[in-house]
Formats: sequence, structure tokens, C-alpha cells
Amino acid sequence: PLEAAAVVNGVKEANPVATHSDGVPIIVNTALPKITNGISQVKHLPAEFYTPFFSDAANKRKPSPIRALFPLENTPGLISLLAGKPNASCFPFTSISFTARSPTDPSTETSLELDKNELAEALQYGPTGGEPSLVNWVFGLQEYSHGRKRGEGWRVSIGAGSQDLLYKAITAILSPGDTMLIESPAYAGVLPMFEHCEQIEVDTDSDGIDPASMRSILENWPVGKRKPKVLYTVPFGSNPTGFTTTLKRRKEILALAREHNFLIMEDDPYYYLYFGEAPRPASYFTLELEEPEVGRVLRFDSLSKVLSAGIRIGFASGPEPLLRAMDMHTAMANLQVAGLTQVMVSTLLNSWGYDTFKIHSQNVSAFYRKKRDIFERCMRQYLTGLAEWSRPEAGMFYWFKLLLGTEEEDSEVVIRTKAIERGVLALPGTVFMPNARKTGYVRASFSLLDEEEIEEAIQRLRDVILEARTT
Ligand code: PMP
Repeated sequence: PLEAAAVVNGVKEANPVATHSDGVPIIVNTALPKITNGISQVKHLPAEFYTPFFSDAANKRKPSPIRALFPLENTPGLISLLAGKPNASCFPFTSISFTARSPTDPSTETSLELDKNELAEALQYGPTGGEPSLVNWVFGLQEYSHGRKRGEGWRVSIGAGSQDLLYKAITAILSPGDTMLIESPAYAGVLPMFEHCEQIEVDTDSDGIDPASMRSILENWPVGKRKPKVLYTVPFGSNPTGFTTTLKRRKEILALAREHNFLIMEDDPYYYLYFGEAPRPASYFTLELEEPEVGRVLRFDSLSKVLSAGIRIGFASGPEPLLRAMDMHTAMANLQVAGLTQVMVSTLLNSWGYDTFKIHSQNVSAFYRKKRDIFERCMRQYLTGLAEWSRPEAGMFYWFKLLLGTEEEDSEVVIRTKAIERGVLALPGTVFMPNARKTGYVRASFSLLDEEEIEEAIQRLRDVILEARTT
């Protein structure tokens, strides 16, 4: 149906009476004016579009009666007897300051102190979706990195790491028994979140998630069964494989999302750790701007790999109705992310500006590229003929298959026993397989090791494989 889209002013226009391949009508928002982003006219999916995507849990959840009224507190002249906000004069903190290394000159450190307003923002309860200073910075970043302008039908929520937001999004979308698409292998940290669902695995290879595998699943879908609601994918330096999905494949996946009516959860903590030689492929969040209707992509970013993992800041960017549902979960579960870490991060990042943030992330990715290069050299030197792998272009992982000459499952035993006896710890690939499938692959992280340790670890692995091949 969308193939029948007309081209108006060089922009593809969805046919308002068109349907998705499963018969669900494509709702085109005629109420909202088209928004001009300077390059093209962007047409957003309307709020009603998301109704069938919500889980039973999200449908039952109600806004927090107190937090829903928070914005009224700013009404001039109004005396608020509303919230149980503690009186800040009882807090002992009088100043908070920290020092940070300069990305442009790593030998220099700058001292930063939260000003009066920042201190007040950091110490008091704040908005559910995030402190305004950090939310504003994220809006600017998403325009800088992904070409998404503020006010164009999407918004931001801050989470305690992206993990927090992934859980809230999955709970808002998937009810027990719902079907979802998941790249396989997949990040072990989300697998328990999908346990209540039917997980349909989509193959991946060194070019990332495979649209041909997905197309064949969707085209052979049982008649009468509801199609998957959502795809979960890690597009850069995937955990565990290290694979980065090519631009061509990303476009094909977006087209499949439109044809088969599913949402895309783009979990992208390794976006700023891309060190490939080819230009960085655009994110799904950017690419969907070329779609006839925008609003299928829910993007997850993390500051864990570039600023600090312990500071626990991630952010979700996507359609307003989905973010609102996630905020309702936050209002119930933890009210908000710690104000102090949000304000520390926004103070630092606002002092840098986006160009300096980019320089910082380039420094970080160059750091990991060096480690990747050492790892690759050692893999070639010691494991040629003993393992199979593809060189990662982003992130911090190698994914390789042990060539033991026996059953694939044996590698799990070898990694869990013989390797540890020899003094090398890696993760058996099985923990990354949806539906508890077995695999002969192993994941190794190269983020923390120096050259000597990488060399030693891979030599130990070589000895373990050689020993397993002879016994
Ligand atoms: N997604 C993926 C793919 C990850 O590898 C991680 C971290 N291991 C996360 C999400 C969670 O990151 P955080 O909560 O620290 O932002």
C-alpha cells in the first residue's frame, strides 16, 4: 500500500486510505499542520496511531495525581499547597563542585561549580522526564547528531542509564504473549525483559541485522496472528557481536517497519564509539525523516560509555505518546532520576558545547579503536585457524567462534571451565541467545586491557583451544 504513495513536491506522501500489510489502516494526521524542517516536510504519525501498541500495563496506568499538577506551580500569583517537597533550607549542601579533564587539551583540568539555580535544581524534586537543563541539552544534541529538531512531534526523557528506559519502554509496549522481533544474538541485559513475550529471532551477520531474514519471517507470518509490535536492535557495535548495521540494511529495516507496522527500539549506547573507516551510517532516528510518516523509532542513548557508567544517565527520544507512557512508569517506580547527577552532567556538557562533546567522543572512539587494533593483531597471530570472527567497527566487543572440531556446545564448557583454569575469563555466547538457544560463540571485551594483557589473554585462549582439540 505504501508503494502506492504519491510524490508531492519531491516528498513521498502516504495515501490517506492506505493500509499496512496486515490490514491496519495507516492513519495520517490531517489535524496537525505539516512541519517544515528546512529540508523536507515531515509528516508525523498522530497520537491515535500508538493506541494499539500499548501494553495492558500501560493502558491501566494513570498519571501521578501530584506530578500531573506540578506545572501549575509556576502560575504567577498561585500559592501551592500541593507537593511534599522538602524545604531546601534544611539541606546541608551549600555548594557542589567538580573538576573535569578538557577534551581539547587533556593536560588541563577545569573546575566547575553548580551556580545557585543549578544547586537548587539538583537538590529538589524535579520533573519526571528529566531536569530541564539536561533535557534542553539533549534536544540540542539530537539536532546536532541526528538532525532532529525540537518541537517536531518527539521529545526526550532522562533515565537512570538507558537500561532503565529500555525496561520502561518494553513494559509500556509489550503485554504477556505479545510478539516482538529481536536481533539474534542480542544484549543479554534485555533478554529477561522479553521473557513474557514471544521472541522472534532475526539473524545478524557482520553487516548487522539481516533484513532478508526479517522479510522472510514477516512474509510467512501465520494468517490471523497479530504481527510483531516492535523490533529491538543495537545498530552500532552491537553487544555481543560488535557488528554495525549498514546504511542499506537500516533503510530496508525501516521500510519493513512501515510495511508490517512495527516500532523500532534503537538501543544505541555505542553510537559515539564508532571507529570504522567508512562514514558513520545514519541512525534510524535520522533515517526515518525520509519516511512518508515519522514516529516509529524510539531511540535510546547512554552516557555510560563516554562520561561515566556510575553517573547513570541515559535518554530516550521518540514519539510523545510513548515517552509519556514511560514517564508514567517513572512517576510510579522511582519518581525521577537523581537530580544531582543530571545537573552535574548538564553543567559539564553546557560548559563544553556540542563541538567539544564531539571532540570528546572522537577521543573516546579513537581510544577504543587502538585497543581493537591490538586485539585484531593478536587474534590473527594466535587464533588463525582456531577461531572465526569479524573485526568490529564500533563498541568494545569481539564475538568469535571456537573451532574445537567437536560439537558447538562444547565451547561453553571450555570457556566456563578450562579457560578459567588457565586464567582467562570470557562469556559463553549462549547467554546472548534469545529463547535459550546454544551457540559455539564467545564474547570478549577489550575495553579495559592494555597491550600486554590482550596478548597474554589471547595466548591463553589459544592454549585452551589447542588442549580442547586434542582431548
Ligand atoms: N544496551 C546495551 C546494548 C548495552 O550494552 C548496555 C550496557 N552494557 C546498555 C544498554 C545499558 O547501558 P546504561 O544503562 O549504562 O546506559
